[in-house]
Amino acid sequence: MAMLAVDLDPDFSEAERAAWETAHRFARDVLRPAGQALDKLPAAEVFAPGSILWDVFDQYRELGLEMFDTQSDLTPAEQARIRYIVGEEMGWGDSGLAISLGVANFPTMMAQTSGNPALIERFPQGTLGCWAITEPDHGSDQINFDGAVNHPGGQDKRPNCIARLDGNQFVISGQKSAWVSNGTIAEAAALFCAVDLGGGRTGGGVFVVPLNEGGVSRGKPTDKIGQRALNQGEIFFNDLKVPADSMVIGPDLYRATADRILCMANGSMGTTFVGCARAAFELATDYAKERVQGGVTIFTHQSVKARLFKMYRQVEAARALNHRVLRINAAREVPLLEQAIASKVTSTQAAFDVASEAFQIFGGAGISRDCPIEKIFRDARLSMIEDGCNEVLGLVAASRF
Ligand SMILES: Cc1cc2nc3c(=O)[nH]c(=O)nc-3n(C[C@H](O)[C@H](O)[C@H](O)COP(=O)(O)OP(=O)(O)OC[C@H]3O[C@@H](n4cnc5c(N)ncnc54)[C@H](O)[C@@H]3O)c2cc1C
Repeated sequence: MAMLAVDLDPDFSEAERAAWETAHRFARDVLRPAGQALDKLPAAEVFAPGSILWDVFDQYRELGLEMFDTQSDLTPAEQARIRYIVGEEMGWGDSGLAISLGVANFPTMMAQTSGNPALIERFPQGTLGCWAITEPDHGSDQINFDGAVNHPGGQDKRPNCIARLDGNQFVISGQKSAWVSNGTIAEAAALFCAVDLGGGRTGGGVFVVPLNEGGVSRGKPTDKIGQRALNQGEIFFNDLKVPADSMVIGPDLYRATADRILCMANGSMGTTFVGCARAAFELATDYAKERVQGGVTIFTHQSVKARLFKMYRQVEAARALNHRVLRINAAREVPLLEQAIASKVTSTQAAFDVASEAFQIFGGAGISRDCPIEKIFRDARLSMIEDGCNEVLGLVAASRF
């Protein structure tokens, strides 16, 4: 059954095939078994010393998977394709771990974007990071940067987390939500929060801050239904003092930067959940060919084949859209948020629909916690909220038309 992008695409280069082979082996031999084992643990044990989670991080870094697309001889389009290939395999292996590994690089990336040597040195490659943007009172509105989908009656602009300039340093106080990925384990944050502009006015700012040097405490790891290998939890800033140049983006460029980061994050979510959908499709196809019921395999039934074909179409369509969006956005000075949102919403909906249909094809066998499909179904469900609720993202995208 040809389903992998590398099997079907006549234009795959040697570099792309090498990236795929490395990523697929890692996804099959490391990510998937680790994700299944971590799924069964209480939230606090997922990241305990000696947890398999730390092996996953070590092996990911040793293989250089976070850097595969940055080889200097590749064009932006080739980099985008490699990012896609690696990303789909990560999501195929385990979507929660794929997100944990992917978001870990955010503070380093923002430090590098700043061009500030001190920050680059302080947050080197390999720093375990997080993207702290949503707050207890600000979820959907944090990704609605220009307020385009605000309700006319909504006046609450009071941030839960704010940075105030005091001499040559910022003092950060308040908290981020219980959903910050890597929230209780991160060593550093790419912190998107309000900046006090004086006179009761606030703007947005992006900071790169350490989380292990005092002035910060954490909540309990969030115990949740899916993506259980992905650590999430609150971060509390108790008058954390950081040098003024920790603010890498100020209020003037905040909206454009937040747009760009959401583009990147939504594009990457799209890719991850094509992989998740493909995993569900493959498991269901294999099971349908094995399961004998009424004297024949269930694959013998026309209606089962028809359902599998619909799942196949959904995976291929989501993949095609993701490829197109990554290519378009890689070629643009300013990426198109509506395109990235289209790929995220399409892939995550496809992952949920395909996982749900796969679950049905497994029948009673699928409900056991020893069966991989029920986990994929739970993992896929979260993706329609993660990185922005799909329906709010849709409104944000449509406001750009
Ligand atoms: C698995 C996972 C990982 C996450 N990782 C991170 C992370 O790394 N960093 C981080 O900061 N956050 C993270 N989040 C938080 C995530 O971004 C938010 O959960 C999401 O943006 C929605 O915010 P909320 O949960 O506060 O929902 P709410 O904003 O309270 O929305 C609840 C419901 O109301 C609807 N609604 C709200 N506003 C509107 C509107 N204007 N128009 C129409 N309907 C509306 C929504 O569609 C939704 O159905 C993560 C969440 C999940 C589930």
